[in-house]
Amino acid sequence: MDTQIPLPADAPIFDPRGFRLSPFEADLCARAQEFGARVLAPRAARWDREASFPTDNYDDMRREGWLGICIPKADGGMGADFRAYCLAAAEFGRHCGATALTWNMHVCSTLWTGLLTDDLEMDTATRALHHDRRKLHYENILRRGAIFSQPFSEGGAAAAGGVAFGTTATPVDGGFRINGKKIFASLSGHADYYGILCTEVHGAEKLSRRDTLYLAIPRDAPGVIVEGEWDPLGMRGTVSRNLVFRDVFVPVSAALMPPGLYFQAASRWPHMFMTLTPTYMGLAQAAHDFTLRYLRGEQPGAPPVKRRMYPTKQIALAEMRIMLEQTKALWFQAISEAGPDPSKEQMLRALAAQNTVMENAQAIAAKAVRTCGGQAMLKTLPLERIYRDSRCGSLMLPWTAELCVDRIGRDALYEKGETD
Ligand SMILES: Cc1cc2nc3c(=O)[nH]c(=O)nc-3n(C[C@H](O)[C@H](O)[C@H](O)COP(=O)(O)OP(=O)(O)OC[C@H]3O[C@@H](n4cnc5c(N)ncnc54)[C@H](O)[C@@H]3O)c2cc1C
Repeated sequence: MDTQIPLPADAPIFDPRGFRLSPFEADLCARAQEFGARVLAPRAARWDREASFPTDNYDDMRREGWLGICIPKADGGMGADFRAYCLAAAEFGRHCGATALTWNMHVCSTLWTGLLTDDLEMDTATRALHHDRRKLHYENILRRGAIFSQPFSEGGAAAAGGVAFGTTATPVDGGFRINGKKIFASLSGHADYYGILCTEVHGAEKLSRRDTLYLAIPRDAPGVIVEGEWDPLGMRGTVSRNLVFRDVFVPVSAALMPPGLYFQAASRWPHMFMTLTPTYMGLAQAAHDFTLRYLRGEQPGAPPVKRRMYPTKQIALAEMRIMLEQTKALWFQAISEAGPDPSKEQMLRALAAQNTVMENAQAIAAKAVRTCGGQAMLKTLPLERIYRDSRCGSLMLPWTAELCVDRIGRDALYEKGETD
């Protein structure tokens, strides 16, 4: 049963006029905000309480075309580019963090195979084959409503980009034999395909990150096992259990990207790792908006008591607003300059933006709890869920908040090839 009262329709997070959005972006964000308020917000408490997957949301997203947001228009999708997607996804995150985060895993299967690979190098025959395959992939989503997940974490150094993925793809007649284990596999048991990152085995050679493959494994393929409990602090609706692959066979056509392309993408299109941030940008806005409504005595589900006349509340809200504007400005700039072969400055900015969104979403939510007070953290209201969900952002590999700091410090102080 849905327990939370729907929120009143707010303006989109990024004012089209102020941020000079294109007409396409403005329309997309308005529709995402409307969908979030109408469909996602009223159900968000349920997925959180049950730690269950938001299947009903996906049914509605499928019906209203959101599964194809980054599929090119020529292929029947909405045709959103990187920035347009990020802006729309922030609107989803504002209303239901878990839905936005899982949706991101799905959307990456179209973004990476689409506009991202269009920017990368491959020979003509490889590109033609890739286009044929991705057309089928897109049809699978648009015609059959297929949902994709993106399990890459393994519990070791691979997800941080340090070493090759330990999940292996051994070439066999007509395809690959997959073996390995993924942890925190959002949508486990619910996605139709697991878009896994794994390493192609070349005989006795040491596994190499250059041989990373991106393969779509059907949920019901023999040898696929979902295991482990799922009862976490936040993002409970993501259902991020463990996935085990035991001698799972997939045909060569399961490759979502040609061999070597993931490695090229990770090196040349690094903003691809920023797609986890929109969810948390939305949560930061949600924590701020909740506080504003609450202090005005206008939060649905809470008594209509005004608290805005107290100077401490005004200062707290001002501080939240300052942090929110800083976060929005830096994030907007970073997603605006996403593209192939970023300069060192752009790279440092992307890492700074990632760190800022993930850390500030949690800081703003924590401040919201302290400012609004005891009644505001009851489970009948969304703030305590926003607080728990926002805690998860800085933990997400490969660009955890810590790893961003690590890289910014090192890369700012050292030029390529310099050592001490
Ligand atoms: C709600 C949720 C959903 C998720 N969904 C997915 C998903 O769909 N797919 C997926 O692949 N993963 C997913 N993840 C996993 C996530 O991306 C991380 O892989 C996971 O949180 C890492 O947990 P860990 O305990 O193994 O961290 P560890 O790898 O042990 O890292 C702990 C901390 O140490 C630091 N650290 C890690 N590696 C290094 C290093 N090489 N050098 C220096 N410091 C380092 C980092 O700051 C990190 O926060 C999800 C996580 C959460 C919380």
